[in-house]
Amino acid sequence: MRSLFLLLLSAAPVLAQQNPDFHREFPPFKIAGNLYWVGTADLSVYLINTPQGNILINSDFPEDLPLIKKNIEKLGFKYGDTKIILASHAHNDHDAAVGIMKKETGGRLMIMDADVPQTESTAQGRPGAKVDRVLHDGDTVELGGSKLTAHLTPGHTKGCTTWTMQVDEAGRKLNAVIIGSANINRGTLLVDNKNYPQIANDYVKTFKVLKSLPADLFLGAHGNYFGLKAKYDKMKSGAPNPFIDASGYKAYVEEREQNFMKEWERQKKNPGSGAP
Ligand SMILES: [Zn+2]
Repeated sequence: MRSLFLLLLSAAPVLAQQNPDFHREFPPFKIAGNLYWVGTADLSVYLINTPQGNILINSDFPEDLPLIKKNIEKLGFKYGDTKIILASHAHNDHDAAVGIMKKETGGRLMIMDADVPQTESTAQGRPGAKVDRVLHDGDTVELGGSKLTAHLTPGHTKGCTTWTMQVDEAGRKLNAVIIGSANINRGTLLVDNKNYPQIANDYVKTFKVLKSLPADLFLGAHGNYFGLKAKYDKMKSGAPNPFIDASGYKAYVEEREQNFMKEWERQKKNPGSGAP
């Protein structure tokens, strides 16, 4: 009974996020420079195209892989050219298919240190993919002239990673920020969390990091963080690149921080009651 309870509790963060857009097709498109969206209508997969092959950030669920492959080919790229596989954080909606991707493409899987045990685990419905390179806060990943930086933004998971890179768009250098997650999943304990005692302080640290990053292109692990659909429609109508949204980024981070602070205060008064 106790183990069933623990199983349900640990599965809750993933189940709570189910949303019809997770597996819905979305047109692939160029965000800016050599950075592309090849994910579903909500689950992000970013492709960074370089002369030496491609980097993919996130895999989504195995059932999303056919869509992702189709999106990559639609843009004229080859799924088989994937050299490096990265992730936003070790939850199934972002990384359940990284092991399949590795097998199919030969790409190397690189994961933030504190998420490695979760990535490699086969417990509780986890896919269990072998990590090829363990990343630490501030490490860079380079391929064919592109350089990404892994920022540890913990709390949502212990190794939750916000990726940044500079892209060249029509002679302008743009700072892209791909937020790992600033959300508190249903059931999460911010106070007296035995599996993750420092969780609240980690969230505090994450907001400090997110606020310190220069952001021109506002992106994240889910399209709903940054308004994917509305911005895509705007872009199609010929508007100036709507993904360049420094003020939207700032407002989002502030709103998520306030949401966290409010929930933390609530739990301090009601210890043991998980996030709604
Ligand atoms: Zn998550």
